[in-house]
Amino acid sequence: MLSLDRASVRFAGRAVLDGVGLDVAEHEVVCVLGPSGSGKSTLLRTVAGLQPLDEGRVILDGRSLDGVPAHRRGVGLMFQDHQLFPQRDVGGNVAFGLRMHGMARAERDARVGELLRLVGLPGAARRAVASLSGGEQQRVALARALAPRPRLLMLDEPLGQLDRSLRERLVVELRDLFGRLGTTVLAVTHDQGEAFALADRVVVMRDGRIAQSGTPLEVWQRPADEFVARFLGFDN
Ligand code: ATP
Ligand code: MG
Repeated sequence: MLSLDRASVRFAGRAVLDGVGLDVAEHEVVCVLGPSGSGKSTLLRTVAGLQPLDEGRVILDGRSLDGVPAHRRGVGLMFQDHQLFPQRDVGGNVAFGLRMHGMARAERDARVGELLRLVGLPGAARRAVASLSGGEQQRVALARALAPRPRLLMLDEPLGQLDRSLRERLVVELRDLFGRLGTTVLAVTHDQGEAFALADRVVVMRDGRIAQSGTPLEVWQRPADEFVARFLGFDN
């Protein structure tokens, strides 16, 4: 459903995405791994329409997204630094995209309640965003990204600030949720365990290129090169 075709982005002459080709099938969950600065967030931002390409194309459902503004792309993105609206309470943040879609109040409140339970923050709808911890804010951002049930959901380090037990619980629940909703997912994580538990396919990036793409088992058993092997920690 999603294709990147020779996607390139340069900053000050340096290629941050360097001719990336990537296909994501409908209902597939793809996790992007790679060192800091390898272009993972930039990749998601180009698909979301927040970062123009210098070369190449993003194609969604057979249609080029060239010139299509972010809010018309029908994709959801959860930012690495979550960027909640500080002036809205928790419920207002989660409901943001629903209000834009014109969903009726009662249905909206039910959806917000359901999502806040999912992310382990039941009853937090009226709380001020500023009163939440970093990890709690991250969970609100996750609920906000999930709320409109986008066909393509992109998550940038969705569980980065959470403790291990919560991550493990959420990974299982998210997998189940994506399966039930049929959501196609492109997620960045630095946690291999998370990628291997969540993903149908793992993509390893290096310096703006894809070093390897394969099922978790393939990447685990046959890393494409020494970089991938080292990145996965197989030299320890
Ligand atoms: P991390 O794991 O640290 O989040 P990342 O893989 O997500 O890293 P990106 O945020 O995609 O990395 O950035 C890739 C490179 O592009 C980095 O070297 C970054 O400094 C650079 N970069 C990103 N955005 C810009 C920008 N707007 N202007 C200049 N350089 C940028
Ligand atoms: Mg990043």
